[in-house]
Amino acid sequence: MAIGLVIGRDENERKKMSSYIQEWMDSLLAQDPQLDLRLYPNLGDINEIDFIVVLNAPTGIFKEFTHVKAILTLTAGVDSLLSDNSLLPHIPIVRIEDPFMADDICQYALTYVLQYMKQVEHWHNLQKHHDWDRRVPFVFSSKTIGVMGLGYLGKRVAVTLSQLGFTVNGWSQSPKEIPGVTVYTGQDQFIDFLQHTDIAVCLLPLTLNTRDILNKNTFSHLKKGAHIINMGRGEQLVEEDLLAALDSGQLTGATLDVFRQEPLPKDHLFWDHPKIIVTPHIASITNPRTAAVQVVENIKRMQKSEEPIGKVDLTQGY
Ligand code: NDP
Repeated sequence: MAIGLVIGRDENERKKMSSYIQEWMDSLLAQDPQLDLRLYPNLGDINEIDFIVVLNAPTGIFKEFTHVKAILTLTAGVDSLLSDNSLLPHIPIVRIEDPFMADDICQYALTYVLQYMKQVEHWHNLQKHHDWDRRVPFVFSSKTIGVMGLGYLGKRVAVTLSQLGFTVNGWSQSPKEIPGVTVYTGQDQFIDFLQHTDIAVCLLPLTLNTRDILNKNTFSHLKKGAHIINMGRGEQLVEEDLLAALDSGQLTGATLDVFRQEPLPKDHLFWDHPKIIVTPHIASITNPRTAAVQVVENIKRMQKSEEPIGKVDLTQGY
């Protein structure tokens, strides 16, 4: 059994990512030193490859891999991979569901929820002006967090925040029961969900249904003065609508980790906006040392014809 490791769009990117690629090789081999791991483009006889493990693979390469048992992507989001027209519909795609990644995502959400709840920026501004103006910060129970997307990551965020004493609602496509979290389901309950939300945390996958979902209509239904935290994908946010909602005061702030164009262009308005926090898509970055465990486990499962963890539903697009 041979495994093709395909990381980087082109030679240039592969050079830049060489130490990360090496980390992946080392981490995968640490899980199983017997793996026949072949690094793209030096894959040898392509018919010997049983699995391909990919991250930012060159566009259009997949039609060559007619015999692989699965494509394992080293990301949680699959929108970019699924946009490749060379994917063969009969080959399953498996994504990363790594508990350490979920921890990262929870910590990111918690950081910016607390920043809002504890009005950190307000105190910083007072300090700048040597201003001793005491007032009571928000109490946890007075604000409701609405988590959009209750999948592997969103559910972890909702449960963690709820266990810390926040009031948490969640919204997903299918009904769920999550202790401590009030769940709203589907399009029918979307507006109701928004109307209860002070801090919207987006952890939706990018699909045809979620593209542009953070738009003026959505913002108008949130509670007045709401804050949004977007960790999903940049294409879910209508940027002009966000700027207008911040100007009008309908939203008081936004924490953005993902953008329509990444890296965010140097002259983008978001960089200097006083009500926007920009982070460079770091809410979680796949860690080879932890994620390799799942990749190798999944390969072993599939060799035994067992179901892998994190199989993508190609009809849903996530
Ligand atoms: P999952 O696929 O496990 O979960 C997706 C959730 O979104 C599910 O609860 C699903 O509902 C819900 N959903 C999908 N479409 C809709 C819709 N139209 N209406 C309502 N709910 C919907 O994904 P993960 O939790 O693992 O990851 C979510 C996203 O987070 C990734 O796709 C990626 O874009 C982003 N991400 C960002 C990172 C960062 O560093 N910023 C890092 C990792 C991921 P249901 O449960 O009913 O199917």
